[in-house]
Amino acid sequence: MKHEIYADNAATTKLDKEAFEAMLRWLNEEYGNASQPYAFSRKPKKAIAEARAVIAGCINAEPEEIFFTSGGTESDNWAIKGSAFSNPDKKAIITSQIEHPAVLNACRRIETLGYPVAYLPVDSEGLVSRSMLERFITDNTRLVSIMLANNEIGTIEPICELATVAHRHGALVHTDAVQAIGHIPVDVKALDVDVLSASAHKFNGPKGVGFLYIKKGTVIAPIVDGGSQERGMRAGTENVAGIVGMAVALKNNCEKLDENAAHIISLEKKLIAALDENGLDYVRNGAQYHSPGNISLSFKGADGEGLLHRLDLMGISVSTGSACDSHNTQISHVLKAIGLSREYAEGTIRVSLGKDNTAEDVSKIASSLCKILL
Ligand code: PLP
Repeated sequence: MKHEIYADNAATTKLDKEAFEAMLRWLNEEYGNASQPYAFSRKPKKAIAEARAVIAGCINAEPEEIFFTSGGTESDNWAIKGSAFSNPDKKAIITSQIEHPAVLNACRRIETLGYPVAYLPVDSEGLVSRSMLERFITDNTRLVSIMLANNEIGTIEPICELATVAHRHGALVHTDAVQAIGHIPVDVKALDVDVLSASAHKFNGPKGVGFLYIKKGTVIAPIVDGGSQERGMRAGTENVAGIVGMAVALKNNCEKLDENAAHIISLEKKLIAALDENGLDYVRNGAQYHSPGNISLSFKGADGEGLLHRLDLMGISVSTGSACDSHNTQISHVLKAIGLSREYAEGTIRVSLGKDNTAEDVSKIASSLCKILL
């Protein structure tokens, strides 16, 4: 079925054309294994080194602080398990109740291995507070892992402020920046983080590739064992095309960050104005400072899943709470954590706009919602 309007950019984004073109060469011409010592592998090896430098430059890191992975899920697992497994003297982990399942389930796994985990509550906008962290942190805390931008409601967390508290107790700081990179400025030094996760397909790169930033001097155990790729930190034959595509996409998005954000925010305002003009009974979830285009709307008395399907029939792709949770008809853990009442929470959809959306798309989304709900 043809989907005329794609408004689920928090689930995945369209591959950047230049990234796609840059990838082709490494799939069908220069397909050598980057870890081999002969001449045929020199070019892919060089391409990986160049991509690493470009990516590092985009987040104010050094190239040797970037480790390639298969995406956000692996990066999050590595950050959590790799910090837990690397220090037998400090075992506790602190995270929040609204993290992505890649973080939450990695934490649940290490809990079964004897690592204590605290899941911090958030306020009604989804914000983790410094005082809450101060209540839970001890000198036994190995890692504080709080996401930069929430995937369901877009809230941007005060990472730098939380990092000050964590570092005072000698804990490492990880942030899942999967929904932030390529959409808001991300500077690892300004954020004061030790470890940061990213995924290419959320910023117009290819699927199945991402990276973990590990600050120089930070001890994180490898979790994928095998060959000595990525300086012995992450085994597996390098995804050369994916890595090259990721670097091109990130560079292009970072160069147009302000322009894209301004466009997307103007579309957000149009959508909200249209809903208000028509008198729909809804709440918008999340904090004022949120990732551009992430619009979580809860319509009183509506059925979010039903809304998604009705919009789908009208040629509009949106999601309920979160794409990774679309088979789960229960209220999402994020909406529960912000304390949204059931009558609103059940009627929640996430419209996530991207740089390719237009004013026309937004009018059609608003008029379709009115047709269904009024
Ligand atoms: N973290 C967040 C905040 C996400 O939104 C996602 C994907 O939805 C992930 C992690 C997982 O990333 P990937 O799809 O690359 O495994």
